[in-house]
Amino acid sequence: MNLMLVDDEGFAIKLLTRQLAQLGYDSVQGYERAADAMAVLDTDAHGVDLVFCDLQMPEVDGVEFVRHLAHVGYRGALVVVSGEDDRILHAAEKLAQAHRIQVLGVLSKPVEPQRLRLIMDRFDAHRGSADSRSSHFFSASEFRRAIHDKALVNHYQPKVAMDTGALLGVEALVRWQHPQAGLVYPDQFIPLAEENGLIDALTVVVLEKALEQARAWQDAGLSLHMAVNVSMDNLAALDFPDMVAEQAARAGVALTALTLEVTESRLMRDMRTQLDTLARLRLRRVSLSIDDFGTGHSSLVQLRDLPFNELKLDRGFVTGAAHNESLKAIVAATLAMAGKLGMTSVAEGVETLEDWTLLHALGCDVAQGYFVARPMPAQDLPAWLQEWQSRWRGLANGMTA
Ligand SMILES: [Mg+2]
Repeated sequence: MNLMLVDDEGFAIKLLTRQLAQLGYDSVQGYERAADAMAVLDTDAHGVDLVFCDLQMPEVDGVEFVRHLAHVGYRGALVVVSGEDDRILHAAEKLAQAHRIQVLGVLSKPVEPQRLRLIMDRFDAHRGSADSRSSHFFSASEFRRAIHDKALVNHYQPKVAMDTGALLGVEALVRWQHPQAGLVYPDQFIPLAEENGLIDALTVVVLEKALEQARAWQDAGLSLHMAVNVSMDNLAALDFPDMVAEQAARAGVALTALTLEVTESRLMRDMRTQLDTLARLRLRRVSLSIDDFGTGHSSLVQLRDLPFNELKLDRGFVTGAAHNESLKAIVAATLAMAGKLGMTSVAEGVETLEDWTLLHALGCDVAQGYFVARPMPAQDLPAWLQEWQSRWRGLANGMTA
C-alpha cells in the first residue's frame, strides 16, 4: 500500500505522515515539490495507491496536479487537502471525479484525526474493488455468465429511524463474487450491464434474492422493509410492475414491504412509460424512492412529475454537512421541501455523530451510512442489530442529557 503526500509545507507532510503511521500506514512518501511527485507518477503511475494533495501550492497548484494524475492514467484514490474554504475544496473534488479519479474525501487543515480515520476506512473498504480494477477487465459475456450462475450476492445496509433508532429496513446492494477478482462492487459492472442490455436481468436477480431474504427475516421474526435499486431503464418495460408483483407473491412478501429506489443515469426525453409503470407500482402500495436526490438528473422535475413517496438525499450533501454552510443550507431546504410534500426523507452517507446530530436537528426521518452500519452479508445483521441497539441507548441518553 503506497501513499503519496504532496504539500509545499514540510511541516504539514510530517504531521500527516505521523497521523497515518498511528493508523498503521507506514509506506508514505512525502513531496514538497509537486513536480517531483509528478515525475514519480510519470514513471510509475500504478505504483501509488493513494495520493493526498494540497490545493494551494506554488509552481503547480492542486488543480493542475489532479489534471496530471488523469493524464498519466492514475488509477488509485485521491484525498484533497487544503486550508481553502469548503466551496473550493468541493470544486476540486468534482474536477477530480470528472476525470474519473476516485476521490475518497476532502480534508481541511489542520487534519482532524477522526476525519482522517474515516477516510482511511473508506480507502480500505474500496481497496478490494480498486485491486480488481487494476488487474481485471470484465467482459460482457463474463458478466452474463455471472448472472446466469447466480454469482451475484446482495449485501444489506440498514436504514434506521432518527427519532427512535428503530431498524426500519435495509437497502439491497449487489456485489459480484468473482472467482479471481473477489468481491466486485457495482460501480465496476453497472455500466457494463447498462451498455450491454443486461440491466433488466441484473435487476431481476437482485430483486429475487432480496425478496427471498426479506421472507427469511420475516420468518425469523424480523419484519423489515426491503429496498431495491432500479433504474429508469428498468421502468421502461410496461410489464415491470407485474414482474415485481409476481416475484413478491412467490417469495411471500407483501408489496407494502418493498421500496424501489429509482435512479436516472441519463436524461429521459419521453417519460410516458416510466410514468405509467411508476403509477401502477404506487397503486399497488410499493414505496417509490427518488434516489441520489440532488445529483445528475434526479431533480425537481422528477419530483413534480413522478409519484415518489420517499426522498433519498445524496451522500454528497450529507457527509460533512455539519462543517459546511452551503451544504447545510441545501440539506435544510431539501428536508423542508420533502416534509411539505409529505415524503419520507432519508439521508445517505451519515458517517459521523456530527452528521447524525445535524440531520436529526433538521428533521430528517431516516438515516443510512457508515455511522449506523456498512453494507453487510445477511447473516451479519442480527449481531449488528444488537450492537446498534446498545449504541443507540447511549446515543439517546446523550441527546437527552
Ligand atoms: Mg440506492
